[in-house]
Amino acid sequence: MKLLHVSDLHFRAHWFEWVAAQARDFDAICLSGDLLDMFGTHQTSLRAQSKWVRDWLREFPGRLFVCSGNHDWWDRDGVVDTDAHCGWLDKMARPEVTVDGQGAYCGELYIFCHPFRFPPVWPQAPHGKWILLHHLPPALAATGGSGNGGTDNGCRDLTAALTMAARPPWIVLSGHLHQPKSWRGQCGSSWSFNPTFDEVASFPNHITIDTDSGVVTWITERAGTWPLQVL
Ligand SMILES: [Zn+2]
Repeated sequence: MKLLHVSDLHFRAHWFEWVAAQARDFDAICLSGDLLDMFGTHQTSLRAQSKWVRDWLREFPGRLFVCSGNHDWWDRDGVVDTDAHCGWLDKMARPEVTVDGQGAYCGELYIFCHPFRFPPVWPQAPHGKWILLHHLPPALAATGGSGNGGTDNGCRDLTAALTMAARPPWIVLSGHLHQPKSWRGQCGSSWSFNPTFDEVASFPNHITIDTDSGVVTWITERAGTWPLQVL
């Protein structure tokens, strides 16, 4: 099975279009949060951005797993309705689109989408390998350490949960840190991946996972292509 992992699209329409165009080449696309952009690089409110992304989700031409990130939540714009607190994303659930708080099988592989702002808990994982989508990478993993000395260094609660879990995920797919120490890391027995972020690239930095061969590949426009054998 072939999976594509992207993250932190931050309301870049051409990146969303690129992701949709890949859907036919993969069994599923995993999108690990920060679909929207709260930092005013666009003159569009988060609510208006979410409307555009909802149309994209509605028309997505393949199998999609998506979890929320910190940019996808709002609760202080004076109107708290069912779209706030990332409710807009919850509404997009359908058989082909698995969202926050939901898990589903893709072939033999179980994939769970963790909602941002919730503690790192998940339902008792079914047997076999499974994948966790969690916007913040685990602290102490190379994917969760800021590569430029910043203070945002991943999620400590996730690290604790992964190291204590009876059946930890095979792979944790995250984003959030745009320039981590590495696109790949480990936490306990779990692999951790972060596609990283290149704001001037014509397509988003991304990761492909071939679950049959066990090869995970980091693909970027400016830093090249890096395969890794994980099995
Ligand atoms: Zn983030």
